[in-house]
Amino acid sequence: MMDIKLKIIDRFNKELPADTRTDTARRQVTEACFSFVKPKVPSNPSLVHVSPEMLTILGLDTTIATLEKFLNVFSGAEILTSTQPYAMCYGGHQFGNWAGQLGDGRAINLCEVEHLQKNWTLQLKGAGETPYSRSADGLAVLRSSIREYLCSEAMHHLGIPTTRALSLMLSGDMVLRDMLYDGNPENEKGAIVCRVAESFIRFGNFEIFTARGDVKTLKKLVDFTIEHHFPHLGAPSKETYLRFFQEVAHRSLAMVVHWQRVGFVHGVMNTDNMSILGLTIDYGPYGWLEGYDHGWTPNTTDRTHKRYRFGAQPQIVLWNLLQLANALYPLIDEAEPLEKILMEYKEAYPKAYQAMMLKKLGLKTQQQEDFGLITDLEAVLQVSETDMTIFFRYLANYKKDGSIPGIEVVQEAFYFPDEIQGKVQEQWEQWFLNYSNRLQQEALTDVQRKGGMNKVNPKYVLRNYMAQMAIDAADTGDYTLVDELFQLLKKPYDEQPEREKWFAKRPDWARHKAGCSMLSCSS
Ligand code: AMP
Ligand code: MG
Repeated sequence: MMDIKLKIIDRFNKELPADTRTDTARRQVTEACFSFVKPKVPSNPSLVHVSPEMLTILGLDTTIATLEKFLNVFSGAEILTSTQPYAMCYGGHQFGNWAGQLGDGRAINLCEVEHLQKNWTLQLKGAGETPYSRSADGLAVLRSSIREYLCSEAMHHLGIPTTRALSLMLSGDMVLRDMLYDGNPENEKGAIVCRVAESFIRFGNFEIFTARGDVKTLKKLVDFTIEHHFPHLGAPSKETYLRFFQEVAHRSLAMVVHWQRVGFVHGVMNTDNMSILGLTIDYGPYGWLEGYDHGWTPNTTDRTHKRYRFGAQPQIVLWNLLQLANALYPLIDEAEPLEKILMEYKEAYPKAYQAMMLKKLGLKTQQQEDFGLITDLEAVLQVSETDMTIFFRYLANYKKDGSIPGIEVVQEAFYFPDEIQGKVQEQWEQWFLNYSNRLQQEALTDVQRKGGMNKVNPKYVLRNYMAQMAIDAADTGDYTLVDELFQLLKKPYDEQPEREKWFAKRPDWARHKAGCSMLSCSS
């Protein structure tokens, strides 16, 4: 009989110190990296969607998702033999302030598995209370679970480092949520996503020990992380710790450059939401730029200060790295080399950003005037509400000989085409003139340039209104749209003529609808 045959090789919960208690009473957990905890048994689990690709990656047969056992294991109803689920202890800086202990309040790690020389941690999000649930219930609703499930897979297919998702299930239980924080809580369908990543360790996992002066446990966790996730860095030493920090800085930089490339706004870049592996993690009130705007954040909780707005993301990564540097400091005892690495980030980011933007513009060489070309474009994109994704995709159709006016080429990207007149029109014309001149210095043909641009400028992204449509349908038990978007987003750079309707500006009805532009953290 077919069974769930996973090669289980647990390390985190075997090699690191555990909390001595195993109940879920809220508490401060000290001198421990995690607490053993069992997922809540859902009353009536049912499958909403499964990722065949992730099944294969884990070495599972793609037909396995039809088994009751699969339903049970990945909804938390049944625990795989010889595994010991656990919730991680971590702290974090939230919106710029130290928040103390946070931890996996609604995520429960099932086990670690190995397949084809790769290690994966399987984690259920929304699987019930843990010692870290604070005043909340440990659960997740269908709405936020669909958003996480679809977006994490979409990010992967965009070529962006991210945690993945294996399955999405309904728990069969209802969960009370005040989505708009307006005092009108409603019952929503509870759901559970099985997330998958090499590791879910965050900056905050290290910060918590330093904040408590617990250098002993800090060292254990750092050594563990290097041994299993950065083995090429060598045996523990001050130099190794510095190389570790440097690599985390490099990976985090690469991640945020990708975010800026595709217009992804994470929404809650607290240090507990920063993966030590440089993965995009914790999909909450994220969003995708529609109108290009450096000042935009989808997160209603951040509406006033906009700390985590699109244009600030690279700076916030640096700020978060500084917190990580502080957390690692007790093992290194010297501030200077850590500061040097932070300085390197500061210098490397603008270069990496410019190189990325040149690719978006289809430019192979680098010229003096490119900095101006990029900043001028950013400015004019903001002046007239212009859809980022559609703009760059149409820009690839621009002809080097200037035979079609640029504004005409990208016409479809403007939310208010009638407003492209007067000064705004002049600004656009000037930019296209500069772009056209710049293209003359390139050897690429129009066709070659377009080919290159379409590899970095996605045609399809998970706009919030699209996710919301899938959510509304799924809420009535219709999962076809979840699957349609799942399939669509597997090939974000490809032309998909049969799915062309998703290559469109945000419709007017979605401009102010809840879940379609702004989102709350309530999930
Ligand atoms: P977030 O900003 O969503 O990543 O969450 C911040 C902290 O709140 C983490 O420690 C989460 O585990 C915790 N948390 C969020 N939602 C819940 C919930 N429904 N139940 C328990 N803990 C939660
Ligand atoms: Mg989080």
